[in-house]
Amino acid sequence: MKSTTYPLLPLYIISSLIIIAIIIGSIYSYNRSNSLSMRIDALSSDIITLTRSLSSTTAALQATISQATSSLSLALNAQQQNVGAIQQQLGGFQSQVGSLSGSLNTLQKLAQTDPELLKKYSKVYFLNENYIPAHLSEIPLTYQYSDLKQLLIYTNVLPRLESMIDAASSSGVKLYAYSAYRSFDDQKALKNDYRIVYGAGTANSFSADQGYSEHQLGTAVDMITPGLGGVVDGFDRTNAYQWMLSNAYRYGFILSYPKNNGYFTYEPWHWRFVGVKLATELHNQGKNFYDLDQRVIDGYLVNIFD
Ligand SMILES: [Zn+2]
Repeated sequence: MKSTTYPLLPLYIISSLIIIAIIIGSIYSYNRSNSLSMRIDALSSDIITLTRSLSSTTAALQATISQATSSLSLALNAQQQNVGAIQQQLGGFQSQVGSLSGSLNTLQKLAQTDPELLKKYSKVYFLNENYIPAHLSEIPLTYQYSDLKQLLIYTNVLPRLESMIDAASSSGVKLYAYSAYRSFDDQKALKNDYRIVYGAGTANSFSADQGYSEHQLGTAVDMITPGLGGVVDGFDRTNAYQWMLSNAYRYGFILSYPKNNGYFTYEPWHWRFVGVKLATELHNQGKNFYDLDQRVIDGYLVNIFD
């Protein structure tokens, strides 16, 4: 018997095996991919859920934060407004206190300032014979023309006089105090002396009647410079007089009786302290003290020693 051979059998078996393997592989891979895609689906739905909940949480958080921020800034604004209002109130109080203490200072200064110091004296308005300045000081001898008699001047005026004489000296001008405070009795005695020497008519023309002399105030000073033979006459022909005309106001001094004034004899040597402010105003406006209204002058009293 002829045996039948199947030479292709191994090939069939191998092919079948391969086909089976492919089928199993496909099924497996299909299953696998199926389960993977399911997992992916599940995951992505998880992700979507998560994203949704995250975004809603974020939105809620943002809303909360913005609400908190706005209420905080509102509270802050309110606080700032409060602070502002308080500061404004405080400022108001301070300025009130300031202006109160300012007017109090002014009142105190005025109360302490002798109103006579800026009065215009005439034959109808004059100082009482008992009037004595509140504070008088000795003029150091270096500022006096002569050391025969100790001169006195209103205490607050002394430093101004010294500064003025020092300033003149620095510009090569020699100035000295020749006469300053004179009491009612001094003035009376002086007048009598003049009367004896010159006669009553002449004496009246160059020495004020006792009582309304500015010298009794303690703020007037007669100035002199060397070269006049020890008298004040002719002072207006000197450099010292020119220097005084240009500079005395800086130290608060004015010429009481300038040339051609309608009140009293021309006295180029006679300078009265009226305060730097008033003296400067008069100098700048080319006016005379005695031409001003007394009420206008009185306005300068509070600042007379500033
Ligand atoms: Zn005088």
